[in-house]
Amino acid sequence: MNPNIVGIDLGTTFSLAAYVRDGKPEVVRDASGNALVPSVVSFHEDGSVLVGTEARQRALRDPNQTIFSVKRLMGRTLADLKRELELIPYQVIEREPEPGRKVLHVVINGKEHTPEEISAMILREVRRRAGNPTKAVITVPAYFDDTQRQATRDAGRIAGLDVLRIVNEPTAAALAYGLDQRKTGNVAVYDLGGGTFDCSILTLSDGVFKVLSTHGDTMLGGDDFDRALMQLAANDWGLDLNQRDAEVLQALRDAAERAKIALSTEEQTVLRLEVPSRGLSRQRTVTREEFEKLLEPFILRTLDRCRLALRDAGLKPAQIDEVVLVGGSTRIPYVRQRVAEFFGRTPHTELNPEEVVAMGAALQADILSGSRRGMLLLDVVPLSLGIETLGGVVDKVIHRNTTIPTRATTRYTTFVDNQTAVSIAIYQGERELTKDCRFLGKFKLSGIPPMPAQMAQIDVTFMVDQNGLLTVSALERRSGQQAQVSVQPGSGLTQAEVERLVLESVEHAQEDFTARRLIELRNKADADLRHTAKALEQAGEQLEAGQRERIETARQRLTAAMAGNDVDQLQQAVAEFGQATLPLAELLMNSVVQATLQGKTEAEVSPEAIGKGLPPDPEEA
Ligand code: ADP
Ligand code: MG
Repeated sequence: MNPNIVGIDLGTTFSLAAYVRDGKPEVVRDASGNALVPSVVSFHEDGSVLVGTEARQRALRDPNQTIFSVKRLMGRTLADLKRELELIPYQVIEREPEPGRKVLHVVINGKEHTPEEISAMILREVRRRAGNPTKAVITVPAYFDDTQRQATRDAGRIAGLDVLRIVNEPTAAALAYGLDQRKTGNVAVYDLGGGTFDCSILTLSDGVFKVLSTHGDTMLGGDDFDRALMQLAANDWGLDLNQRDAEVLQALRDAAERAKIALSTEEQTVLRLEVPSRGLSRQRTVTREEFEKLLEPFILRTLDRCRLALRDAGLKPAQIDEVVLVGGSTRIPYVRQRVAEFFGRTPHTELNPEEVVAMGAALQADILSGSRRGMLLLDVVPLSLGIETLGGVVDKVIHRNTTIPTRATTRYTTFVDNQTAVSIAIYQGERELTKDCRFLGKFKLSGIPPMPAQMAQIDVTFMVDQNGLLTVSALERRSGQQAQVSVQPGSGLTQAEVERLVLESVEHAQEDFTARRLIELRNKADADLRHTAKALEQAGEQLEAGQRERIETARQRLTAAMAGNDVDQLQQAVAEFGQATLPLAELLMNSVVQATLQGKTEAEVSPEAIGKGLPPDPEEA
């Protein structure tokens, strides 16, 4: 059997492929029935590279030349990885191939490899086992942002795969369970893997899935349970886990994992550490009860995340119709029990929790290859997307949790007279100001014909495709000038950061609002002052002396208020200035009407405010 199209679960700890045969998903296995390829790559002095099981075995001897968990580095920068880096034994550096675009490299034996390349080595191995298919659907966590999805897609391409679609892991799992057959309902997917946890809430309508929300912890999983067991044993044996003996640590880690897995089926087991080269030989009995006590704080953390996901989805546990368990760590009976209690329903465990995502990806691949009736899987935008308007304010164009694919257009204008170019800077995040959001990219729309400020009509369109990739385009309607970028952001966000940003946006809502209001008022005041100065030149002498004096007083008060930080005072000064300049505006209106009557075009004389101003291009300003 040589499928040409497969579904691939590219996991943090294990990866695997599946394909559809006779309408049913089948997992790709090796001769001994193993489906899981450890997501591990090891490099050797002689230039050879091992991937998967062999690399994992080599880890014992070559811990510094073995790369684990490269998924954590995908689409990241060093700044994103503060917590993760402590756990990573290999060297990671950051390069900036062009200003603003940062790329991580793993350094092994003096050679540098990008995370995409290393992931590609894992994908190539998975692909080889599946008989070298050319097309694939690859899954990613629901919280993966644009950059991380793009990095995953790039890894696929490097591995020689045509990546038809990037699909969310929870959506794939729900699909594997055939939950789309329900037509309607809400599904919770609890995914506890080796190093990460996430809980996603999906809703189904007319057999179409949509991710309503997702919360998790990128630093929580089976590895923590191994570590807790290592600590338990080390305490008994008087071993120091902070010691730098990589071989002992690795052997202890393997022993702990074996004990953990045994405890999923046995009431007690013996944790055995044998390192002949160090003359070490220890053992200790661990009971399930002891182990469950160690698990408790981790399980509570996962349930907290489930609570947040439910809250974001606006649902109560009782409104969840199906619960799906994903990830090797959900084989632990105590995890199953606690999840069942939390949601008040028995979770699905019929399928292998380590294979279910790949099976769903295979089904999606099959749908895309056209062998199934048109079915769509919907996802959401994890963080709001917008552009910078004058003064460093982010104007959101697409809001967080909008279903993708999606498209939205907002109209903007120029800020100064004869502005022939605008700079469009794209940001992602929940806060109001650019400095608190993540910069994604920037482009320039030039060739706008010279015209008065606020005359140009610039439609900025954001498009997020099925893979969650963003394209931003801008069109000046009067001139037809246009420009666009596909956003390949300089860096991405960790899930923890996404959560922190969402939390911060709530915490700082008031101060953000004030800062934004202040900037907007200053912008308005600035524009009003300039327009008035121009109008005074044109028609000032037609005003009465008292009217001119009132304008001047209001102008001074407004200028003073602009220098301060008092929103209320500024707002009042703007309003007063507006009042004072009313006679002038009337005068001008009359001349506009006259001009129009004299046959001048509307465009020349009626600068109507049509939207928020975009900053001029810095090179031009
Ligand atoms: P990921 O999606 O993060 O790549 P997996 O879903 O494959 O990871 O889960 C791997 C984790 O599951 C490892 O920590 C492994 O020790 C754990 N695991 C596998 N089988 C069992 C089991 N029977 N009992 C407990 N933990 C298990
Ligand atoms: Mg997984």
